[in-house]
Amino acid sequence: MFYAWRPYVSVAERRRQAALEMAKLAKQGHPVSPVAIDGRTIAKTFWGKAWCDNLERYSDYANRLPRGRTYVRNGSVVDLQIAPGEIKAKVSGSEIYDVVVKVSEVPRACWTSICADCAGAIDSLVELLQGRFSKGVMERICQQKTGLFPVPAEIKLDCSCPDWASMCKHVAAVLYGIGARLDERPELLFKLRKVDEKDLIAKAGKGVPLSRKGPRAAKVLADDGLSELFGLDLGMGEAKKPRAKAKKKKPKGEAKKRRAAKRKARR
Ligand SMILES: [Zn+2]
Repeated sequence: MFYAWRPYVSVAERRRQAALEMAKLAKQGHPVSPVAIDGRTIAKTFWGKAWCDNLERYSDYANRLPRGRTYVRNGSVVDLQIAPGEIKAKVSGSEIYDVVVKVSEVPRACWTSICADCAGAIDSLVELLQGRFSKGVMERICQQKTGLFPVPAEIKLDCSCPDWASMCKHVAAVLYGIGARLDERPELLFKLRKVDEKDLIAKAGKGVPLSRKGPRAAKVLADDGLSELFGLDLGMGEAKKPRAKAKKKKPKGEAKKRRAAKRKARR
C-alpha cells in the first residue's frame, strides 16, 4: 500500500470545504442529510444500538470499527442516504470521499420465519418503531444470521479514498452513521433490507405470541391515547409513562366502570 504525502488541512477548513460542497449538491437538487450526533453516544434507541451492536460482534469488523466513532461524532459524515439495498454517504476527510455500503435483502424464508415467530406479539407500528416489545421479540429480531441485521457476508463496503483497504475510517464512520440514522428513522432498516415492517404487526386471531407479559399495549393506547401521542413526540422516555400508569392495580370492577365512563365521554 502506498501512502502519498498530503498537506495538512485543519478540521475547521475541512468542515468549511465540506459545507460548500454540500451546499453545491443541495443546489443541484440532491437532498443532503448529514449525520449529527449530540453528545458522545452514537445510538440511543433500540434500533440504532442493535445496528451498532450487531456490527461490533463480528471479529472482521471489531478492530477496524473504533476508528469510525470519532469520525462520525465530529460530523465528518456530511451526507448519508439509505435506500433499498444500499447506503450512499459522503465523508469529509482530506477531501470528500464517497462511501457505498451494499446490504443484501433479508432472505424470504428468514423473513417468513421472523414474522411467524413474532406473530401476535407486536400490536402497532408505533410500538415496533419505538422498540417497545417483549424480550422474546427483541432477541428474535437480533438473532445472529437469522434475525433482521445483516452478517458481514451480506455487506459490501466501498470507499473512494486512496487508503482503501477492507475497511477505512470513512466506511467505519458511515457504518456508525447508519446506527445514528436508525435512531431517528428506524423504518429505514426495513427499507434497506427490502421487507415490509407491517408484516410484523399483529393481526387479530393469527399466531401465538412469543411472550407477552404485562398490559397489552393496544389497551394502554385506548386508555390513555393522548399521552401516548405526546409520548411519541417527546421521545422514548416519555412514551413509557402510560404503560407504567396502566400497571397500577385497581379493583377490577372499578377499573371497568372507569373505562366505560371514559368511552362514554369520548363519544
Ligand atoms: Zn475511505
